[in-house]
Amino acid sequence: MIEAILLMLGLGALLGLGLGISGEIFYVKPDERFEKVLNMLPGYNCGACGYPGCQGMAEGLLNGEVTAVSQCKPSNSQQRTDISSYLNENPGPDGKTLAIKP
Ligand code: SF4
Repeated sequence: MIEAILLMLGLGALLGLGLGISGEIFYVKPDERFEKVLNMLPGYNCGACGYPGCQGMAEGLLNGEVTAVSQCKPSNSQQRTDISSYLNENPGPDGKTLAIKP
């Protein structure tokens, strides 16, 4: 009985250590621009941009799939200008800015 408990404790400690190390090795720094861009989009989640919601559009803008904010049909010109200016002036985790058209 004692051996089984010690085995489970040892196994738990080993798996916990493995998870901790994996978390450090595979950590991906989040792109802080995502929330800002998501909040600047209209937030209708209408799908007119080709994504199922504004979250997909924000991700598309950040990963280079979307090159113009006008792909979001309900957005107004001020929103398009604000989002493109923000992304063109603020670098991501890789230190690079984007070339997004309003
Ligand atoms: S078209 Fe604009 S408002 Fe509609 S889901 Fe896409 S980003 Fe959101």
